[in-house]
Amino acid sequence: MSQSPARPQLAHLTAALDELRAKGTYFKLRILDDQQAPVCHYDGRKVINLASNNYLGLANDPRLIEAALEATRKFGVGSGAVRTIAGTMRIHMELEEKIARFKNVEACVVFQSGFTANAGAVSSILGKEDFILSDELNHASIIDGARLSRARILVFRHKDTAHCEELLKEVANEPGHKLVITDGVFSMDGDIGPVDKLAALAEKYGAIMMVDDAHASGVLGRNGRGSVDHFGMHGKVDVQVGTLSKAIGCLGGYVCGTRDLIDYLYHRARPFLFSTSHPPAVAAACMAAFDILEQEPERIERLWTNTRYFQGELKRAGFNVGGVTTPASETPITPIIIGDGRKTMEFSRALFEEGVMGTGIAFPTVPEGKARIRLILTSEHTKAQLEQALETLERVAKKMGILG
Ligand SMILES: *Cc1c(COP(=O)(O)O)cnc(C)c1O
Repeated sequence: MSQSPARPQLAHLTAALDELRAKGTYFKLRILDDQQAPVCHYDGRKVINLASNNYLGLANDPRLIEAALEATRKFGVGSGAVRTIAGTMRIHMELEEKIARFKNVEACVVFQSGFTANAGAVSSILGKEDFILSDELNHASIIDGARLSRARILVFRHKDTAHCEELLKEVANEPGHKLVITDGVFSMDGDIGPVDKLAALAEKYGAIMMVDDAHASGVLGRNGRGSVDHFGMHGKVDVQVGTLSKAIGCLGGYVCGTRDLIDYLYHRARPFLFSTSHPPAVAAACMAAFDILEQEPERIERLWTNTRYFQGELKRAGFNVGGVTTPASETPITPIIIGDGRKTMEFSRALFEEGVMGTGIAFPTVPEGKARIRLILTSEHTKAQLEQALETLERVAKKMGILG
């Protein structure tokens, strides 16, 4: 099936890939030839792009591009060191102050990515005497952070606050710290975490409350302030993580909270201590993005208008967009549940051939038997583009027997 490996040491990797090929879930990376835009070219083919996290179209906004270029001319392309050695530039501090003001918190620390923000924060705040209560569908970066912390991990059923409370009770008399953690928006189903109820539970049991707002940043709350703002829970969530890589259009992650939380992370979070800080261009572009969030809330309105229209039409056509055996989306993340991994990948490829880019997602990213095409709307898709995508989705799905 595949070439035999030159060296036997890695033969098990080849075997694992062969297994994926046999199951039909092996994939090749699709290569973007131009900008991350509503219509663009992947692998030389023009497609309506419903696969990116570029919710507000900021990844190629001229103002972000200009800010990045200007910062590069002034400050160069690299920061030259990790933050704690010599790599903290004024522009890094300005970005952190800007995000803290935006999120209405005392302080903020920016990491290289949302992944490192989660992993770095969770693993440094908790230790091996402690307990982490984590939603079963939380993001991989939370899971990795939890494992690195060596705390005991107690997983509660998805959004099941009663189950979370049961677990909190079980460990209530243990001396260790407890952390309750949830995604603000779950990345594969698009449903919203019960941040209000979990924060109330955390309060009741004296636990630390943490939210990962990667998909809520720029999408939920006033001007995209996130799930804590959406639920009116300011001051009730101890650790707020966000990303700069999705709606903000650039790259990076951040943690928001008290001055002491951030100072502690400056001293203890390993990705902060041991990995180089952002190029000045990234920090400058992120700052320009936060200005746009404040000045152009209409982008977020367009995002939600597109979302309501598109999801409504998919339901009318008879697609399973979640809500039966999987959670129902409440955000622009739009799963089309197919179930079988092979069929899902075939559907994704057929859509691509017909000019629609929608990523197929199978095990282990989602549970076995719950493979799906995941589509994400942006504020920049036009009605005509969405109509064309809907027509293609329906036509291809009928041809493949996905729709009756
Ligand atoms: C994308 C994502 C992250 C990681 O963010 P990056 O900035 O891309 O590293 C973390 N948590 C969730 C829930 C995500 O969806």
